[in-house]
Amino acid sequence: MSLYTGPVFEMARTQFNGIADYIGIHDDERDRLLLPKRAIAVSCPVRMDDGSVRVFQGYRVQHHLTLGPTKGGTRYSADLDLGEVAALAVWMSWKCALADLPYGGAKGGVAVDPNGISKRELEGVSRRYMQEMIPFVGPHTDVMAPDMGTNEQVMAWFMDTYSMYQGRTVTEIVTGKPVASGGTEGRREATGRGVAFLVARAMQTIGMTASGATAIVQGYGNVGAIAAHEMSLQGIRIIGVSDHTAAFYDPKGFDLAKLNAHVAEKGFLRGYSTQSNIDPAALLIQKCDVLVPAAIERVINGANVGQLKCRILAEGANGPTTPEADKFLDQHRDAIFVIPDILCNSGGVIVSYFEWVQDLQQFFWSESEVTDKLKTLLNRTYNKVLARAERDKVSNRTAAMAIGVEKVRDAKRRRGLFP
Ligand code: GLU
Repeated sequence: MSLYTGPVFEMARTQFNGIADYIGIHDDERDRLLLPKRAIAVSCPVRMDDGSVRVFQGYRVQHHLTLGPTKGGTRYSADLDLGEVAALAVWMSWKCALADLPYGGAKGGVAVDPNGISKRELEGVSRRYMQEMIPFVGPHTDVMAPDMGTNEQVMAWFMDTYSMYQGRTVTEIVTGKPVASGGTEGRREATGRGVAFLVARAMQTIGMTASGATAIVQGYGNVGAIAAHEMSLQGIRIIGVSDHTAAFYDPKGFDLAKLNAHVAEKGFLRGYSTQSNIDPAALLIQKCDVLVPAAIERVINGANVGQLKCRILAEGANGPTTPEADKFLDQHRDAIFVIPDILCNSGGVIVSYFEWVQDLQQFFWSESEVTDKLKTLLNRTYNKVLARAERDKVSNRTAAMAIGVEKVRDAKRRRGLFP
């Protein structure tokens, strides 16, 4: 019996086994590489605004400790479970290893709908979750960051709670904090910026020009909205957007400044337009040059992959494509160029690493230094992935994952088995 159940963990397992077959990992090494080192589950009692007490389930999975501290985001979502958190932690490991960051992967979160509770209640959940995690995290043990449903404010509460218990300010305990609380310039924009940078690299690779190209972005949150903005600066027209409240499609393209003003005021897309509504599932299969799934897992699956009409699939989300859909994409590599998640969205954790380094040194960089270093690292990683895909005639995803898994395997082999 495994602790880690559910479709998302099964997806991570299937992907891993495919890579393990390709690079020839022995059976007796597979569990050691795939199964998380630690999983922590906590109950977080919180006093609600009406005086009642509600208990929220919280999780943190630390996948491996072989290369340094673990690193990864904290997700707030109503139906979060341990299997999903574990899969996301596993993907963080391959992502960090691929980018040569000195981290293992982690992920955590709370089963809570952040839009369904008040700001005071959200603060209560966040502080109690961090307090419950204090024995298990630390700047050299496990460093949290934002993920779906959390933001800079939540990171500031985490940092404050941890610091109050230590009796001193420990900014390096989380990344993705507000700049005023020890965060770095350019972290908020990093993931979306990275997505747009890699889209531009992919266009160069396949001989396409940005000007006049079109893009559809699923998930108009921190990652999707910034990716859309950065792509529009390259001359790409954003013809479709969606979030959990609405989906809009307009082949003429959206005015992002207006769209962003609406989202800033309301907090969501619903109500922005009455003319361009589209079924959210149909949005993914409209013709476009670049499709950016930047929301949740498993949205591109066996049922819709054959209907995609994009040239580039830029995976801003973690795990948006199921292994079944991936098989199809693998057989149609000439039609759709995939920028796999662990490469495509790695700008976030890369700049998190920069933030952690700056906090440890208390020596801060300008936004242009951060963004230049981000692009240099992403470019190097992109070239590495493409060279491997070309050499072994494998998909970009297989190449990216193989580089990540190999790095962790080699490090484990060299350190040996204790005791
Ligand atoms: N949650 C983000 C991710 O999945 C960022 C993680 C981090 O910055 O540590 O990549």
